[in-house]
Amino acid sequence: MRPPPPFTRSLAVALGVSAGWLLVVAVIAAAAGDLAGIAGLAAVGAGMAAACGVATWRSARRLETWLGDQLHGTARDLDRSQQAFRRAISRLGDTLAGTHDRAKILEAVSETAQLAVGGQRGIFYEYVPARKVLLARSGVGPDAPELTLPLGTGLAGAAAADRAAIRYPGAGDGPVFPEPEVATAMAVPFSSRGQLLGVVAVYGHVAGETFGDDDVEALVTLVAQAGTAVDNVSLHEEAQRLSITDGLTGLWNRRQLDLRCQEELERAIRFGRPVGVVFCDVDHFKNVNTEWHHQGGDTVLVEVAQRLSAATREIDVVARYGGEEFVLLLPETDLAGSQILAEKVRRSMCDEPVEHDGKTRTVTLSLGVAAYPHSGTSVRTLLAAAQEALGRAKQNGRNRVEEAQPMMRSTG
Ligand code: GH3
Ligand code: MG
Ligand code: MG
Repeated sequence: MRPPPPFTRSLAVALGVSAGWLLVVAVIAAAAGDLAGIAGLAAVGAGMAAACGVATWRSARRLETWLGDQLHGTARDLDRSQQAFRRAISRLGDTLAGTHDRAKILEAVSETAQLAVGGQRGIFYEYVPARKVLLARSGVGPDAPELTLPLGTGLAGAAAADRAAIRYPGAGDGPVFPEPEVATAMAVPFSSRGQLLGVVAVYGHVAGETFGDDDVEALVTLVAQAGTAVDNVSLHEEAQRLSITDGLTGLWNRRQLDLRCQEELERAIRFGRPVGVVFCDVDHFKNVNTEWHHQGGDTVLVEVAQRLSAATREIDVVARYGGEEFVLLLPETDLAGSQILAEKVRRSMCDEPVEHDGKTRTVTLSLGVAAYPHSGTSVRTLLAAAQEALGRAKQNGRNRVEEAQPMMRSTG
């Protein structure tokens, strides 16, 4: 801001000059002792008043022009920063509405925060609980070294450790290397559903001002809004997970099995590779429910799910088909391989009793095995073939594995 024009100086000069003249005339008139001198004195007094009036009027005009210029400049600056802020808010709005990426949301928040409070640099740190460190995820230049801060170190580290917004200069210490070296800064922890996810920090003020409590408040508000957005992301993921897995056992649900079967079969057909399908059913499960009640039945189902998962590879799909029925989808596995796997599963179940409420019982499985291309060429025919084999396993005494019949070429 420019200094105001010399209004008081102009007035003082006018008054000084007039008073000087008055003094000179008064001295001369007193020395001469004549009336004409006194009349002259009065005339000079009037002249002085007029001069003062003119000087005051001119100074007032200049002050008015100066104030006008200043206000105009301030309004222009305000307009510019408002436009930048509006752009940032709009970008933030788009990001919050259009992404399910936590890091992107936080990146947009730190960018908006930086603009909103006139910061030089906004950095979003992600908290890595396993290492107890903050890792700068955005706001660091591409050529900058990796910015890592242990929990409790520096401004951002302190905000994370205390789970509280912090301002510098303020109560605690300022930023420490490798944080940017600045005269003023603030950091706000970011949590979602009770978990610390990171810190949003703003370093330095573009106009050389010092961040105040209202700046901290603005940053806290922005970060809280991002928290709501990230909560929504988590809920969305949770809903997604629930729609593809079975709530009791955590295995893939039937819908997901259908999708994966389709994918795997298409791949197998394209590359001429085998795929195995094993249908499993718990033997006499109604007895488990009767003797151990529904809760005991659930324990058995969870135990079966764990043993199926333990017996299979990472690339295999283990799904709960419904009730006490499970399906294994085995990529790159032919009928003989699927038969061996099914036998391994059967033994893993009957060799070790299941425990519930201080009691144990041996639970057995009946299994039907089918494979592409041996037993069918579509998801529907493969599952039907495995189910048919399972039926035979039940008929033949349970706790056994049966293979599907070779596909009838005319109907396959
Ligand atoms: P089989 O050897 O012929 O298979 O005899 P089973 O008793 O297992 O026969 P069935 O398939 O007819 O019975 C399945 C039972 O599983 C019926 C149902 O009450 C029970 N069931 C289905 N879903 C659940 C569940 O989620 N939890 C519990 N505890 N029981 C379930
Ligand atoms: Mg059944
Ligand atoms: Mg059964």
